Amino acid sequence: MSGRYHRQQLIDKWDQEKVTESTVAIIGMGALGTVAAASLAMGGVGHLILVDLDTVEISNLNRQLFYRSTDVNKPKVEVSAKILEQINPDIKITPLNMPIEEVSTEILSKCNVIAAGLDTFQTRRWVNSFVVSHNIPLVSGGMYGFYGNIQVIMPKETACIECQTLIPEHELQKACTPFGEVRKAIRGEEEVDAYQPAVSSVSFVIGGLMAQEVFKIVLGLKPLSEYLFWDGDAGVFTSLALQRRENCIICSDHYQLRETIIHSPSDQTLLDFANQLRYSFNLGPNMRILYKAKEIALTSDYMNTIFQSGAIFRVVDPLLSFPAKFKVILD
Ligand SMILES: [Zn+2]
Repeated sequence: MSGRYHRQQLIDKWDQEKVTESTVAIIGMGALGTVAAASLAMGGVGHLILVDLDTVEISNLNRQLFYRSTDVNKPKVEVSAKILEQINPDIKITPLNMPIEEVSTEILSKCNVIAAGLDTFQTRRWVNSFVVSHNIPLVSGGMYGFYGNIQVIMPKETACIECQTLIPEHELQKACTPFGEVRKAIRGEEEVDAYQPAVSSVSFVIGGLMAQEVFKIVLGLKPLSEYLFWDGDAGVFTSLALQRRENCIICSDHYQLRETIIHSPSDQTLLDFANQLRYSFNLGPNMRILYKAKEIALTSDYMNTIFQSGAIFRVVDPLLSFPAKFKVILD
């Protein structure tokens, strides 16, 4: 036998049928997304869904595998789809030129794995909350200069991105910029802010690792359980064991089974309470509180004039793909 997949089928634990039958979404077709996509297409992942709203820029060409000078200003997903069809004409490619938040849940929830190489923490947090609520494994990679990292989130099994405070301080500050109506303007700011040092060698290492973890998940093998950090300057890999946080707003059983319990003095103002929520759970300034199916204005009214102790309310935030549920205990 000497078919396209012959050499990988010589690997002990390989099962080409599983790979061929799988659907993988790649969020972000930048340096990591293009490298991972090339590898997954070569390996024969049956259906690749590509999500990115950006167009190719000249400064992408030093590290983003699929793009040439003649592609500048073209949508990344469309250029990528053409290249991937050449790499492997036997697989299906679906290019989606839109922000991840606008991709239909029906499409994403059918994925066996989601791989994300995202440059903003806001989007990473949104994807994290989405995969946890839909129980889809997430392979997330990041790179900065000579450094790279990768983390696999197996919902309810491993720590999610929200479980630990690996969110850099400046990212948290950025998360405090308004969302919603001005989202576009913010994306503009992010682009300016995204002038980060980046080189192709790091995207190949981390993008390759991401594809490896996707293959393992599809094959039913145990994926990486620790946060893997690569220092490409020193040539050192470091593993960091992560623990699920018991009161994680996104993935804790506590939350899944019931709701996150939060205490508040009766005579605290609603505004102070909202700020406490934001601080405790890294929520953004456009967080809204829904109570009895209505939005409540965050005013200087006292907690006990609005809530009875034990009241259950929900929080909606552009950083989360679903409303978080809380029970408030008035002390
Ligand atoms: Zn978590």
